[in-house]
Amino acid sequence: MEDVLIVGGGPCGLAAAIACRRAGLDPVIIEKGSLVHSIYRYPTYMIFHSTPDLLEIGGVPFATANDKPTRQEALNYYRLVAAREQLRVNVYETVTEAKKTPAGFQVTTTDRFAKTHTYEAKNLVIATGYFDNPNLLQVPGEELPKVSSFYKEAHPYTGLKVAVVGGNNSAVDAAMELERAGAEVTVICRRTELSDKVKAWTRPVFESLIKKGRIDMLFGATVESIEERSIKVKTGEEVITLANDHVFSLIGYRPDRTFLHSLGVMIDEETGIPTHHPETMETNIPGLYIAGVIVAGHHANAIFIENGRFHGDGIARHIASHRE
Ligand code: FAD
Repeated sequence: MEDVLIVGGGPCGLAAAIACRRAGLDPVIIEKGSLVHSIYRYPTYMIFHSTPDLLEIGGVPFATANDKPTRQEALNYYRLVAAREQLRVNVYETVTEAKKTPAGFQVTTTDRFAKTHTYEAKNLVIATGYFDNPNLLQVPGEELPKVSSFYKEAHPYTGLKVAVVGGNNSAVDAAMELERAGAEVTVICRRTELSDKVKAWTRPVFESLIKKGRIDMLFGATVESIEERSIKVKTGEEVITLANDHVFSLIGYRPDRTFLHSLGVMIDEETGIPTHHPETMETNIPGLYIAGVIVAGHHANAIFIENGRFHGDGIARHIASHRE
């Protein structure tokens, strides 16, 4: 019987595990990909908007040469922390089912050799993030292979006509990289202006690329449909057809709450926030906790590493205080 089983080895799952260890517990993390798999999947040359101190977990210093860490530096840092704290992380193992039992929880997993494992745990922490679950455009043609919700790097798109849908950091960063690599870029943004969260040092560069005509920017515009070689875009009352080779739909992500629902966690209909105690992070199911982005409601960006990394402290204190 495990003391604590944590589903998800992202920054918030790792932080929860460290807090549990320091409270004298022996947690196990089950992670379906690599360590901090979401960050691994982020754009190759991505730079965080947070300073390194705000991404630290377990009080382990995160020093970087520049003001803002790169994805590569963050990967190094979280690897180092997991090793230093001797965390038990079972990577490439997916949690497929979680059930409440009289003694706690029964969790079923499948490893990378398709072998099934069953764990019994007194306490369960769900820290599965949101990156597996992109928001969809919900338009005809979205299922075409040329449409992608994840941007990695620009090189393959040199010489192609690329539409980037969105108006936040992911869309702006991708559009600028694609333009530099020689793609013909159109950004399609539903709102009439960029998000106010766009990094202060990126915004003027992006705006200057628009002014110079190197990026086509369509504000107040929505994609109507996607075809093999074109897309239809509604701007005001008009529907225009743009020649197109590839679409990046970078319109955010939302937590998948399948496990929470199956375990009987209540979700607030209006806010979308799972019922939980704000300090202990315990849900309405005793022994079942949430940590990281999964805690966010409809506004998934309200929780990120900066604030989600502290969820584990309350969880660890609560579990430790209930220990026989
Ligand atoms: P995640 O990091 O998503 O980790 C969840 C983990 O759970 C994943 O590794 C996943 O593989 C695993 N998992 C999911 N389902 C299962 C399952 N069934 N079984 C086993 N494992 C499972 N935040 C900041 O604070 N500062 C920034 O500068 C910043 N920049 C960002 C830039 C980009 C491009 C993006 C997309 C996000 C950025 N964020 C930033 C947000 C931040 O990365 C997330 O908020 C953070 O990763 C959340 O951590 P988490 O541990 O809750 O979830």
